[in-house]
Amino acid sequence: MDGNETPDLDAIIATIADEMLSYQGCGKVADYIPALARVDPRHFGIAVTLFDGRVLVAGHADVPFSVQSVSKIFVLVLALEKRGAQLWQRIGREPSGSRFNSIVQLENEKGIPRNPLINAGALVTTDALMGVDDPVATIAHITGFMRELAHDHQVGIDPEVARSEAETGYRNASLANFLRANGNLDAPVEDVLNVYFHQCALSMTCRQLARAGLFLANHGVDPLSGRTVCSPDTARAVNALMITCGHYDASGDFTYRVGLPGKSGVGGGILAIAPGRAAITVWSPGLNAAGNSEVGALALERLAAMTGWSVL
Ligand code: GLU
Repeated sequence: MDGNETPDLDAIIATIADEMLSYQGCGKVADYIPALARVDPRHFGIAVTLFDGRVLVAGHADVPFSVQSVSKIFVLVLALEKRGAQLWQRIGREPSGSRFNSIVQLENEKGIPRNPLINAGALVTTDALMGVDDPVATIAHITGFMRELAHDHQVGIDPEVARSEAETGYRNASLANFLRANGNLDAPVEDVLNVYFHQCALSMTCRQLARAGLFLANHGVDPLSGRTVCSPDTARAVNALMITCGHYDASGDFTYRVGLPGKSGVGGGILAIAPGRAAITVWSPGLNAAGNSEVGALALERLAAMTGWSVL
């Protein structure tokens, strides 16, 4: 599509939802905790929030799902606003090329995580946000931020998911202990993990998440309310990390196929940013081998192809 034409977005979203029916149930639902394993793999939802306030939805766009690692984006925004460029003394900005929870890489790189969107980097980001605050206040801060951004006070944390994350989070605990041993966590390990497990357990719909991410498409200012959420520098940094590191060791493939900054979570959600145009959320719980939503990525690939919204 040439950039001057206005795509018929209603028709595009309907076509994508229709096309995705033939992939229903593809991929493997995350099963490391029962609360995620129980989710019906046939769900598919999409929501596109536009700068003119329109929200285009199809499928299960109003069914809440576990946002998991998509939360890393929003905590990164808060941490960058609080700490600025100092954060980069503690975390790198390169794609990891490794699994999202790799311990080997962290050891090789002496406790400096490769980027803020792998688990080790997210733990440091959460620690940087928390500072000397207590974990309960930090969890409330993150939840309040998500409610404000989504313009929806229904947004909350699924306590069962948070509890299960804590009960089974040995690998994340290993990463956190290793970070602390290398002097790269200030708060007690259990406090950082507590906040991280709760942020992962945020439960949101495609509609809420696509509304919440809109400021990232507009240099940090929510185009609908006019509210400045973060500086243009922070928004640019977060978009850059999403496009290079947002899909773990499959980030290159996602960017090749979709050409938009995006962040996936093991709940099957992906938030994608179309700069100057829209924020998009897709949700389909079946994951590919790299732990990213299989049908979600396909839907975004089709959306980018049909709208011409790729930034590349
Ligand atoms: N709670 C998951 C973990 O920390 C999040 C991973 C993800 O969404 O990719 O292992």
